Amino acid sequence: MKNHLFTNATIITMDDDGRIIEDGYLAVAGGRIEALGPMATLDYARYAAYEQIDCGTGYKRRVLLPGFIQTHTHTTQALGRGLADDVNLRVWTHERIWPYESSLTEEDAYVSATLSIAEMIRSGTTSFCEASGQKPDAIAHAVIDTGIKGVVCLSTMDIPGEFPDSMYLPTPKAMEENFSLVERWRGKHERVDACLNLLNLFNTSETLWKEFFTYSEQNDVLVQAHVAEALTEWEYTQAVYGKTPLRLVDSWGGLSPRLLAAHMVHVDDEELETVRRYDVKVQHLPAADLRIAGFAPIAKYLDAGVNVSMGTNSPPCNNRMNMMDEMWLAGLMHKAYHNDPTAVPARAVLRMATINGARALGREKQTGSLQAGKQADLIVLNLNKLVATPTHDLISTIVYQATSETVDTVMVNGKILMRGRELTTINEGWLVQEAERRAQAIVKRAGIRY
Ligand SMILES: [Zn+2]
Repeated sequence: MKNHLFTNATIITMDDDGRIIEDGYLAVAGGRIEALGPMATLDYARYAAYEQIDCGTGYKRRVLLPGFIQTHTHTTQALGRGLADDVNLRVWTHERIWPYESSLTEEDAYVSATLSIAEMIRSGTTSFCEASGQKPDAIAHAVIDTGIKGVVCLSTMDIPGEFPDSMYLPTPKAMEENFSLVERWRGKHERVDACLNLLNLFNTSETLWKEFFTYSEQNDVLVQAHVAEALTEWEYTQAVYGKTPLRLVDSWGGLSPRLLAAHMVHVDDEELETVRRYDVKVQHLPAADLRIAGFAPIAKYLDAGVNVSMGTNSPPCNNRMNMMDEMWLAGLMHKAYHNDPTAVPARAVLRMATINGARALGREKQTGSLQAGKQADLIVLNLNKLVATPTHDLISTIVYQATSETVDTVMVNGKILMRGRELTTINEGWLVQEAERRAQAIVKRAGIRY
């Protein structure tokens, strides 16, 4: 693997001190960040054999930033996006997405995941955690082939519902499938990991929550779940169990630092304190929340010191797999909700998209900030674009102003996955054709009408 030396860059480290190096260098060797600092301290001779990437060629220096970390995204739903716009939740699930998901082949899942990953790379994401996948081995292979980092999981429901039979797993089978997935992938490839999945509280049992919690604790494995997402879920758990979603999961012993709780919209102040106490990892999904869930109390979570990370969630309810867009929304929507233009400021948004994502995945010692010794998961932004002109406050420009067209280069574990906006590991022309062809075939096969 080539070693690289980035020079004349503005480096946003996202370290604990929020250090920004105005005119800096960053050396990458063996997939890790070897050194970084001001250009004035660079000993060129030491890096003579490294490939130099000069970030000082434009009017404004290019910006080095840790790659974005998406902690909740449904990569195998990508071929179904646009299939369920402007419909109610029942039509969304029963008539569109469940028929779509239950019709996926392994190859479809691979292409869908690759489409998601291609868009993630083009908008600066270097790691993701699957939200509830179909055919998780296919997702893992897409991760390996594309060069990104991914945590895969299997969409799991052990309470029968109105969804297709093929999506139901009896509790023992749900345990076996989830545990064997973790055992199949954990430690097998440097960029792949696996976690457990509990799709939602409508369709997962107390037994499964308890079993997963025990396994998660004993094996230090993450649990991905949708919690306190919809008002209908809040009404359902009250009616069936006499508890709110959060209190229900608490009563099952399901709250822990390894719980990746997606949405977390319908949470009162007392529950919020419980979330803080257990160090539950809250996942904010701005576009999807605007569409289906509502306003999560993100400002309150941040004030309480809860770790909030971000993701693009589901392609058929977002429909963009683009963290630059999610940051923009996260920076705006809470200001409207609280009628307070100071709520959830740009710096907090950038932390949610980077280092907080690493913390959520338990990988903050390895990635999520630019520090010597960490894995070289980073992006280069080119702000010499109309959309980023002028740049007054750098971080404000990135969050409120820049779009993904400013993402120039993406590196994961020291390997370049995009350079000059050209993907290096994915044939984009092939992918567009193959994804379109398969998406249309799935719709026909599943008999979806829209
Ligand atoms: Zn989701």
